[in-house]
Amino acid sequence: MQCWFFTVSFQATHHSGLGLISPAGANAIAGLAGEIAFNPLKLLLLVIWVYLGLYCVQRVEFSLVVPKSRKPVVNILTLIFGPIPLLMFLIKDVLKTPLPERGNFFEALKDRLTTISDTIKSSKLMGGSKESLIKLMDSSGTELKELYGHGKIRRQDSHILDLTEKIIWDALQDRASDILIDPKSDSVYIIRFRVDGVLREVDQLDGATCPAVINSIKAISNMDISERRRPQDGAFVAKIPDGTVSFRVASAGVLNGEKLSIRILKQDASMYTLESVGLTEKQRTIVENGIRKPSGMILLCGPTGSGKTTTLYAMLNKIDFYTRNVITVEDPIEYVLPNTSQIEVNAKAGITFAKSLRSILRQDPDVIVVGEIRDEETAIIALQASQTGHIVLATIHSNSTASALIRLLDLGVTPLMLATGINLIVSQRLIRRLCKYCKAPAKMSREQIRIFEKKKVNYANIYDPVGCEQCYGTGYYGRVGIYDILTLDDEIKAGLANNKLPIENLRKEGDQRGRSNLQKQALLKVVTGVTSIDEMNRVVG
Ligand SMILES: [Zn+2]
Repeated sequence: MQCWFFTVSFQATHHSGLGLISPAGANAIAGLAGEIAFNPLKLLLLVIWVYLGLYCVQRVEFSLVVPKSRKPVVNILTLIFGPIPLLMFLIKDVLKTPLPERGNFFEALKDRLTTISDTIKSSKLMGGSKESLIKLMDSSGTELKELYGHGKIRRQDSHILDLTEKIIWDALQDRASDILIDPKSDSVYIIRFRVDGVLREVDQLDGATCPAVINSIKAISNMDISERRRPQDGAFVAKIPDGTVSFRVASAGVLNGEKLSIRILKQDASMYTLESVGLTEKQRTIVENGIRKPSGMILLCGPTGSGKTTTLYAMLNKIDFYTRNVITVEDPIEYVLPNTSQIEVNAKAGITFAKSLRSILRQDPDVIVVGEIRDEETAIIALQASQTGHIVLATIHSNSTASALIRLLDLGVTPLMLATGINLIVSQRLIRRLCKYCKAPAKMSREQIRIFEKKKVNYANIYDPVGCEQCYGTGYYGRVGIYDILTLDDEIKAGLANNKLPIENLRKEGDQRGRSNLQKQALLKVVTGVTSIDEMNRVVG
């Protein structure tokens, strides 16, 4: 069948450059071409063959069988040879699987084909605009496709809009928390997803397509499309079968063009519980007791992306919203909590943390959530509230429990206010969980084993990451928190109140103490097979 393709190429040569071919050769080619041109059945089969090739290139997600980097080569082979290369890759993939796991060859091949046909089905759903599984809308509920003209969308635009929807859909399917679109050069843009806190390149788009995709995202986010240099912010939502997901968009002009960061905000917070976030039994009891108290502040700290908000919501899920009046001030609202009042900070409209907090205090709350303490005013109002019969849950950007105290002092809060307001400071990091489908017993060096034996640590349940289809080859799936908790007991409170807690010591030793506590917690996750030694070193090494 392959030779048909080449015969047709000859036919084209025959027409365009007859002068270059000898009369005898031309006659022979004309004969061959004639044979095809006058055989409608063969012509029909050829058309079907070419169509199949095109279909495979467009629809099949080859990454299931070949590395993404080889996709261009596979595409060209598929255009020439039709679905044959795909079949060959499948057979190679089956043969690569060890015999006990593979079982019957044909059964295994059938399995692979089913997976491939599933991806075709889902991409079909994605491609067809009417049956699309995802609908992008701006904050007023106008659909992306409506923004691009009422019903009549140019073919070119339609392709861009489908591509935009596909990128967003893929990010949701991959459990991404962020989508980053960066120009690498004038002609190449890279698209990366942050999954479990780690960036992964997922695609490259050319310099003609990607700016159009960026424009469509800016349009749906109510941003100025013509402004490419000045940083802008925006937001949009996506309707998917499971519900609605919100996105925050930030753009900025960079060296080779425009960069776009899209943050995916999760909607359902009910899945986060104190039992599942990673606290030890002892830590959980401390936190639960802190929430049950009638007043006082629980301060959550950690760097950006350390899971503070998740822990905050897990704490909130312990609170009975029917008997306690819960009000939150957030920037932005990351999860929707039913039966609470949630206020979103909007600096442009003059709604600041401090202003919102003042208005909240007039609404007789029992529990107040402050998304983030960033300035003196917010810090002072929040601490005053915690001294006057409210439980205040707040986050602050700092690396350790000690540096959270120092940060508040730097903001202008008095030591006495800290002593009377704060009950608990929780410092945290996120550590990746090993993928349960592929983790393998760790191969440890003699040196490592010697250290574990010396510390009398049981190293029988330590695992290494491997990588499989489930975890996109990373070896990790999901994340869990590790915590260091500081209870402000009477001794510390007295020290603070009497100015007897040397701040310089706190600055020096506090960070070190917090670090080694987090290291201990991470080691606990390693020896129980939750995470790997490498991951522990990456996060708290
Ligand atoms: Zn895996």
